[in-house]
Amino acid sequence: IQPTIGFVGLGQMGFPMAANLMKKTGSPFVVFDAFPATASKFVENAKDLKAQNQSVSVAATPRDLAAQCDVIVTMLPAGPHVKSVYLDAETGLLAGIKGRNNVLLVDSSTIDVATSKHVAETVGNAGAVMLDAPVSGGTLGAEAGTLTFMVGSPSVTTFNTVKDTILVHMGKNIVHCGTVGNGQVAKICNNMMLGISMVAASETMNLGVRLGMDPKLLAGIINTSSGRCWSTDTYNPCPGVLPNVPASRDYTGGFGTSLMAKDLSLAVSAAHESKSTVTLGAVAHQIYNQVSSQKEFKNKDFSSVYKWLNDNQEK
Ligand code: NAD
Repeated sequence: IQPTIGFVGLGQMGFPMAANLMKKTGSPFVVFDAFPATASKFVENAKDLKAQNQSVSVAATPRDLAAQCDVIVTMLPAGPHVKSVYLDAETGLLAGIKGRNNVLLVDSSTIDVATSKHVAETVGNAGAVMLDAPVSGGTLGAEAGTLTFMVGSPSVTTFNTVKDTILVHMGKNIVHCGTVGNGQVAKICNNMMLGISMVAASETMNLGVRLGMDPKLLAGIINTSSGRCWSTDTYNPCPGVLPNVPASRDYTGGFGTSLMAKDLSLAVSAAHESKSTVTLGAVAHQIYNQVSSQKEFKNKDFSSVYKWLNDNQEK
């Protein structure tokens, strides 16, 4: 018998992830989203993708979904949403799995380490198992099924089960990062590095251009020298340096400035809790808070920090 799979949170990432999971497993599938229209759209869309006789339905609440499912994936905006979807006494997932110890819950949202651990512990105390499995790869990776999953799991056996039955249908690189919460640790550490390096790449390119250097030539030199990084050689923030990046299409698409501000805030909070020094991470956080609070940049890719710098300096 195939397990019944549930998916909660059908946003920019969740919708294509759930579509891949439904299509590739052929399992009975149940969805829930805070916006009923979004869940209905998923079911409508599924008509052309699902296997013959595969059932795809909408649950009334997370609790109702959990009561029907063996494995559940969640893809929600932030910690408070995850807490309420899992733990709300009336409508939460946990209320729906009561008494069924073999239900597996996988949270792929990017949230704070403390909430992730707290929810997993509460789920564990009730007899079920929750893993954290945040992703990188963006909406393109979600559509192509090539996401990287950073997974925190209580055991290697559980990790392997979830990887082989669920994650492999949505991702390519699936890495066990250790205990629950460590998936979030890996994710926020990587994104803190990325936020810092994007600010550094933007300041560097801006300085060189203002001093009279051709941007393509400057990027070429950096990319064969010791300053090279992903933000300079794959995702250069200066328009015209690389053809197929957000910088060369007015910073549309890609990874939003507000998502970067959120991930940096998670990194800075985690640093505070663990008494770690993150001087550059905190500066990058302040910068992305400012960028994302401006209407013009709110929905732009995070490499638009180059344009923001440029706009906010003496001409
Ligand atoms: P989104 O806002 O597009 O989607 C979130 C979905 O969750 C929405 O459909 C919303 O209606 C639903 N939702 C909100 N509260 C809910 C609730 N209480 N119950 C049920 N559904 C609820 O966000 P997204 O871009 O899909 O991102 C989801 C997560 O993935 C975030 O944590 C984000 O940081 C992370 N992430 C995003 C990207 C990206 O490029 N967008 C990349 C990597 C990771």
